[in-house]
Amino acid sequence: MSSREFVYSKFCEYYRDSQTTIPAPVLPEQREFAYLLFKERFMVRHKRFEKISSFKQTLSEIVPSDVYHSCAYYENPDFDMDKKGWLGADLVFDIDADHIPTTCNKIHDEFKCAKCGFSGRGITPEACPVCEGMKFETKTWPCDLCIQSAREETAKLIDILTEDFGFAMDELRVFFSGHRGYHVHVEDEAVRSLDAMARKEIVDYVCGLGLAILDKEEKEKKGKKRGSKGFMLHDYGWNRRLKVGMYNFLLKASKEDLKEVGLKTSATALIKNRESVLKRCINEGRWESVPGVSVQTWRKIAEYVRENQSSKIDTVVTTDIHRLIRMNGTLHGKTGLKKIEFPARELEDFDPFTGAVAFKTGTAKVLVSSAPEFRIGGQTLGPFKNQTVELPVAVAVMLICKGRAEVAP
Ligand SMILES: [Zn+2]
Ligand SMILES: [Zn+2]
Repeated sequence: MSSREFVYSKFCEYYRDSQTTIPAPVLPEQREFAYLLFKERFMVRHKRFEKISSFKQTLSEIVPSDVYHSCAYYENPDFDMDKKGWLGADLVFDIDADHIPTTCNKIHDEFKCAKCGFSGRGITPEACPVCEGMKFETKTWPCDLCIQSAREETAKLIDILTEDFGFAMDELRVFFSGHRGYHVHVEDEAVRSLDAMARKEIVDYVCGLGLAILDKEEKEKKGKKRGSKGFMLHDYGWNRRLKVGMYNFLLKASKEDLKEVGLKTSATALIKNRESVLKRCINEGRWESVPGVSVQTWRKIAEYVRENQSSKIDTVVTTDIHRLIRMNGTLHGKTGLKKIEFPARELEDFDPFTGAVAFKTGTAKVLVSSAPEFRIGGQTLGPFKNQTVELPVAVAVMLICKGRAEVAP
């Protein structure tokens, strides 16, 4: 059996098993459904299903590698794009380790330009630096560190959505994506009618873009002089985030930390007068009350804190009002893990490498070309290098999907 056939046969078992649950999205009759064909690598789109049961039937017959539905609601989900009759869309956020600069991606992520063959490690560039080609072959790995950084970004997003936007925790639907990240859906009727521009505003807020306090141009336009009057922080929204973030940062910041922020001479003043800086400047808002610590210094620290406190979402996903999103309960073609929902409160405790495992029984013999040490289903495995091993099916599927193993002859 070829490696592909092996993975396909396991996906078949999953979609044909009566124990498999694939929860329906809200208002399935208004959604566009889509799926990627296993062998042809062709995306079938613009499908409409009155009943979710008939879609599940289709899945068990076709057995796609990836399954999606629209975030949008349409009058006619099966019509051409311009004739669908857009009725609204869920507000959706995607957080993926692909977009987060982690320390580990240089170790386990590789990319190669499909046109000229230029290759490198780390985050895949948007365009090839040699030939400007936009297509890449990539080799990534969903490691614990990647998941942890995606989890931290998701926690920041949830905090912004609840604290600043006022959504209740229960209104947020949180999912592990099946690969290296999380999805957060807001399905409240209040957000459905938001257009792309409005969603872009929300994206900017989440990313902390265009904060007046940091926007020098904005200040100059208004003809304000630089001075402590131009630096003032309230106790709500991003102002509060900056204030709390700066306080916590300066409470412990070392000279090296401050150097990273871009501070030189003021670093000494900040460290020497740490207590009065925290009390007078941040708590009492007397920003220029400590000699050697100017408004420019505060701007630099605030910019650094903004970068840290913003959530690294994939901005394109949120603003696209016709976006297709992976369907809850279906398998991810790059891992064989499933997209799965869990309560927003359990973000810290939910372990994707246990909770999202779809194949729970059996083993398979595979020849692993290379894999770092990893953890799945409560077991720690690897590292492997050019060796034949008998592994749990979930692990074998993941290694094959990631292009790191073949079924052993
Ligand atoms: Zn190239
Ligand atoms: Zn990693």
